[in-house]
Amino acid sequence: MSHFVSHLEAAIDGTVLPFGSLANLHNGRPIWVRYHLDRIRAAVSPADIAKRPPNLWRYRELLPLPADVEPVTLGEGMTPLLHCPRLGKQLGLSNLFVKDESQLPTGSFKSRGMAAAISMAKWLGVKRVALPTAGNAGGAAAAYAARAGLECYVFMPDDTPIVNQFEPHLYGAKAFRVNGLINDCGKIVKDGADRMGWFDLSTLKEPYRLEGKKTMGLELAEQLGWALPGTIFYPTGGGTGLIGMWKAFHELAELQWLGRDSAGSVPPFPRLISCQAEGCAPIVRAFEKGERFAELFPNAKTVASGLRVPAAVGDFMILDAIRASGGKAATGSEAKIATWMRRASSAEGISICPETAVCFDVLEQMIAAGEMKPDELVVVFNTGAAPKYLEALPTDLPQIDKNQVDWDRIAG
Ligand SMILES: *Cc1c(COP(=O)(O)O)cnc(C)c1O
Repeated sequence: MSHFVSHLEAAIDGTVLPFGSLANLHNGRPIWVRYHLDRIRAAVSPADIAKRPPNLWRYRELLPLPADVEPVTLGEGMTPLLHCPRLGKQLGLSNLFVKDESQLPTGSFKSRGMAAAISMAKWLGVKRVALPTAGNAGGAAAAYAARAGLECYVFMPDDTPIVNQFEPHLYGAKAFRVNGLINDCGKIVKDGADRMGWFDLSTLKEPYRLEGKKTMGLELAEQLGWALPGTIFYPTGGGTGLIGMWKAFHELAELQWLGRDSAGSVPPFPRLISCQAEGCAPIVRAFEKGERFAELFPNAKTVASGLRVPAAVGDFMILDAIRASGGKAATGSEAKIATWMRRASSAEGISICPETAVCFDVLEQMIAAGEMKPDELVVVFNTGAAPKYLEALPTDLPQIDKNQVDWDRIAG
């Protein structure tokens, strides 16, 4: 057999669905991919994986694309897990790490999901894809569609960061601005499916972007010697990354790949801290109210454009994972985004995006509240590259006159 998928499964009610044809939602909600994990355990080991090239296709058995099908790839995956001693010292944490997804193709972790989704769409005969985007998804989809030779249509809110507007165009997609939010863009994609004959690649509206994002959790475990951190800070928009990592941890546990403690049991999974910006925090609201489903967040507005998702179709999957992990959802201050971008970037030389700046603010709040142990292993996901957000940072550098250099100003 050339793949290990057993079936697809509706997340809302567990309905078993067949694998091998195009799938979007079931009863308006996302679909899981399930694997024959016992067969995978027999077929491959962590030692085999260690010998493979450093990209996300090293976890091939845990991905849905059949082994005899060439993936659509730009070399994505195996981003560095960087120890951050200087920033950690400032915060009072000795084991602070950043998983730096800014180094991926198109400068964000959206490439992981798109590598998987576009590979699957191409295999299943799709010729044309479409999606709404709040920022980075459009560029990633356009790049992988170009790589695959597929047509791509992208719809984004009017005020999407300028680099994200330009990016899909660069990669040959047909890109449009819409006078609304991402859910309005999503409606256009849904309504156009029949007339335009495109396949809907929206976040969690097909099952495979999630599988691509799951590889963040697989990599994290492998990089830690098949162990998991104590706490993960993850900037949450549509939630694919968070849901995907949680799924990855379960699959690894069932594969028995995770190290055991001295008592022979698998240590607890990490606490998931789902971070949202004050200006768009539907998951935080639902978490605090004890609800399983989130309400549409009114007037969503934040410079962390990846977090500007006022309604997430996988809300219950995000909230279930957070609660099962013993973590929480919390907001970071909008006013501190630029400060945190510069503070974290300048401390460690990592290109920190606004979404991750929100995570650092939440982390600092949790330290102040006594919710962090000074020596616990903390991983913050840096989901994108700072230069994609020209709007988020001040650019008024002091100017020097070449004819009359002001040395006092330079010495500051
Ligand atoms: C899309 C995006 C997010 C949110 O990702 P989800 O996994 O869908 O919650 C966070 N940060 C950046 C930079 C993004 O582009």
